[in-house]
Amino acid sequence: MSEIKTISEPAREIPVRCEVDVLVVGGGPAGIMAAEAAAESGARTMLIENRGFLGGNLAIGLPVLGFLGRKGNPIIKGAPERFIGRLRDKGAASEHVPCKLHVSLTIIDPEQAKSEALATMERAGVEVLMYAMAVDVVKRGSDVCGVVIESKAGREAILAHTVIDCTGDGDVAFRAGVECRKGDANGGMQPPTLMFAMQGVDVDALRRAIVEHPDIYDMDTMPAEQFRRRNFITVGLRRQIAEARDAGIDIPVARTILITGIADDEIWVNMSRVNGVDSTDPESYTRGEIAARRQIYDIERYLKRFVPGFADARMKCVAPFMGIRESRVIVGRYILTADDILACRRFDDAVAVASYPVDIHHAVGGDCTLYWCDDCYDIPYRSLVPAAVGGLLVAGRCASLSHEAMASARVMSTCMAMGEAAGRAAAIAAREGIGAGDIDVEMLQRELVNSGAYLRK
Ligand SMILES: Cc1cc2nc3c(=O)[nH]c(=O)nc-3n(C[C@H](O)[C@H](O)[C@H](O)COP(=O)(O)OP(=O)(O)OC[C@H]3O[C@@H](n4cnc5c(N)ncnc54)[C@H](O)[C@@H]3O)c2cc1C
Repeated sequence: MSEIKTISEPAREIPVRCEVDVLVVGGGPAGIMAAEAAAESGARTMLIENRGFLGGNLAIGLPVLGFLGRKGNPIIKGAPERFIGRLRDKGAASEHVPCKLHVSLTIIDPEQAKSEALATMERAGVEVLMYAMAVDVVKRGSDVCGVVIESKAGREAILAHTVIDCTGDGDVAFRAGVECRKGDANGGMQPPTLMFAMQGVDVDALRRAIVEHPDIYDMDTMPAEQFRRRNFITVGLRRQIAEARDAGIDIPVARTILITGIADDEIWVNMSRVNGVDSTDPESYTRGEIAARRQIYDIERYLKRFVPGFADARMKCVAPFMGIRESRVIVGRYILTADDILACRRFDDAVAVASYPVDIHHAVGGDCTLYWCDDCYDIPYRSLVPAAVGGLLVAGRCASLSHEAMASARVMSTCMAMGEAAGRAAAIAAREGIGAGDIDVEMLQRELVNSGAYLRK
């Protein structure tokens, strides 16, 4: 075995691929909204994405949670609502359905979401580069002024007035030297899940079992009546999991989480779980992906034997990657906390409104804890602005959020709203020739409201 532990990489010139006003890194819910908003606001905008499709977790079979607030009113409007509206026009999204546990859910078709994300970029005039991963930053003093990408074409730089990190993992911020945190006080992070879809499900049979026999088919805190609706998420069936375990089927979670699909006989399954995975470590992510892929076949067996409506169903597809609930968050000018959420706090620099509960899938074991605010809370602009590094905004689940606050603000509607705010802010910064941390936040708020976003008066 060689004793060599490190090697020196020689310094080299790398080509500058292009220069833009706003560079968005990561094409998930936050990134597509950031790029659309920046371009719509007149900035020359580019979006880079390391996968071969846009959408991030919009593409793994999840419903979009949190478009409505606890009081049933719409709290996410603007670009995210228009995106869902376009999907709805194609029959690829449901209405926003109120839910006692999840506040609201909106079912989407993951493949159509990918296509609509691309169409949105095209319509807004965003230049998209896929199969390119941001691996480093270009800095001028303490300010980020570009990103280094790696692709099959090699290593290149893209320069920008403002970079928006929407990578979920805070990759750009981390490389730029922004202080980042991970997990709870012990570093424990919410576990990931590899989603999969079943087709040929008799959803009516499942619905009837829950509505007519809530004593047998428990739904935790949700009233059985809620399941009369076309679209729902089950969270429960603890007894059935216990029976499956007694029969020797290994189930990694305490509750059965099933989500109706766009097709009548389709159910998405959110039940694999691998504790201790760190998505910023490829060895750990690989171990998790392999373990989760093993789990899904046990879960399929469980559903077919123990859950009404699944006897004749079969696995239709597996999500293109295991979804990550938690990894890095940045330390920004303000760290949003659980106290802020539970107090329904308002901020002078509010740029989005959210209402989803603090929903923590435990880092250890297989259960989950949820707690709600009575109404809704604000996301302040300062939570998108890194504390000590300029030229950079961060939107989505890696914004400046405590472990508990992230467990609420991570839902996709909120990430989309944060993305829209960051995109408009970055465009203002480019237009005015100033840093994104120095913009007039009242101007940003006016632009957000003028373009249809919801902010509390
Ligand atoms: C299993 C699971 C269940 C969930 N359930 C729900 C739910 O039911 N409803 C809901 O609303 N939310 C749910 N969430 C939360 C939600 O999906 C995420 O928090 C949300 O998608 C985060 O959005 P984002 O844009 O910040 O990041 P992501 O959706 O992770 O998107 C990040 C994008 O950046 C790209 N990227 C990453 N690094 C780089 C790089 N270095 N260079 C280039 N591109 C890069 C990725 O490929 C990806 O496309 C769930 C999450 C998980 C994992």
